[in-house]
Amino acid sequence: MTRLDDGATRLRSGLSVWQANDARLRDAPERPAVGVYEADIAIVGAGITGAFLAEKFTREGRRVVVLDRHAPATGSTAASTAMLLWELDSSLLELESRMGLDAAARIARRCRRQVAGIGALVESSGIAADFLPRPSLYLAGDKLDAADLREEHRIRQHLGFEGLYFDEGELAARGLIGSAGLLYPGSAEVDPVKLARSLIAIAVARGARVISPTVAAVYEHTAKGVTVQTRDGNVVRVQTLVLASGYEMPDFVPAARHTLCTSWAIATPPMIAAACEPWPDGALVWEASDPYLYLRTTADGRVIIGGEDEDFSDPARRDELTPQKVATLLAKAGKRCPGLGSVEPEFIWSGVFGETEDSLPMIGRVPGRANCLVAYGYGGNGITFSAMAAQLLAAELSGEPDEDAAFYALDRD
Ligand SMILES: Cc1cc2nc3c(=O)[nH]c(=O)nc-3n(C[C@H](O)[C@H](O)[C@H](O)COP(=O)(O)OP(=O)(O)OC[C@H]3O[C@@H](n4cnc5c(N)ncnc54)[C@H](O)[C@@H]3O)c2cc1C
Repeated sequence: MTRLDDGATRLRSGLSVWQANDARLRDAPERPAVGVYEADIAIVGAGITGAFLAEKFTREGRRVVVLDRHAPATGSTAASTAMLLWELDSSLLELESRMGLDAAARIARRCRRQVAGIGALVESSGIAADFLPRPSLYLAGDKLDAADLREEHRIRQHLGFEGLYFDEGELAARGLIGSAGLLYPGSAEVDPVKLARSLIAIAVARGARVISPTVAAVYEHTAKGVTVQTRDGNVVRVQTLVLASGYEMPDFVPAARHTLCTSWAIATPPMIAAACEPWPDGALVWEASDPYLYLRTTADGRVIIGGEDEDFSDPARRDELTPQKVATLLAKAGKRCPGLGSVEPEFIWSGVFGETEDSLPMIGRVPGRANCLVAYGYGGNGITFSAMAAQLLAAELSGEPDEDAAFYALDRD
């Protein structure tokens, strides 16, 4: 993987629609004075995960320092297409065969509560981040066909989730082409950069310190706590270190569970959604395919089209493939929603994307490292998992671990 001069991974290429909306991202961040900082918790990473953590920990009265080598919300978070799905990358059918129905049900219910929890937090905190509750429309593809979707629907109904199965005709009536689809409420969309910046601003208002740009380089773990040294000379002494460093993990974190790949996205000009009336309710549309295609609209009426993942993370190859990937995304979108195939994209971007085999994130203590926790929310539910990480890790620190913690632990089976 290509690394920048300071050892960072080039997480993104191109300019996402959220970055264009946020002029501050192009300003050079102000570098705070180099110094010695003491706090309860150091969070490495000021993306959406670090932001949820900082908000939650400061809400509980903990003293927090956040470190990032870049300005907040300019890593993978700026590339996210930010569909807040409660459904995992793996269907309930797959999860059931992997871990049994009870576990699959608990995970799905938790994700659903988590999306609702993000909505509640946004509302109670007065955050303006274009959060909108949305249904999701899961289309049959080359991984799950119409019969499989019927079975998935049956399991969901059995577990008490309410939603609809659409056949080809019912999809056509809603302006979409496909053999079958599942329309279920409970998901949402958001502007991930606005959300992350707002959560960090709330944490800062409660006393959190954000040191950026600075590179956390050395971690010294003792029985009492952790000292983080940064490349430019900051020293941060804390009781607990929480790594929310996205797709860049220090070598003492067991990483075998995850793989890195690349994902592409484009956004149309505004008002396309209204002009095409592409699908009802602004549903988050995604395919049961590999590689998959997904579509969402934005608050200003753009359509975001994403997917076409490849299982490499090299930025040079990523950039080389971009024209071809854009053409494929448009062609595939046009096959699902006539009218989109000929649209000229206004934004084109791509980024590193992480996956785990079981579609679950890595959240919890680092085995063998006292006082070190991680929050790595891989996959297409990354943001839902970021919010979950804040709950699970806060519970862990309170001494009463969350009852679901074992599903996401680094050393799970
Ligand atoms: C194209 C694309 C589409 C996606 N679509 C969706 C989607 O629809 N829904 C969804 O939920 N998720 C989606 N994701 C995934 C989601 O974006 C990620 O899960 C999420 O952004 C990860 O946030 P993070 O804060 O963990 O990581 P990041 O945003 O990458 O933040 C980590 C930060 O840590 C910093 N850092 C790392 N190492 C150090 C160090 N040593 N010192 C200092 N700082 C350091 C980095 O600079 C970075 O800013 C998508 C991702 C991509 C790329």
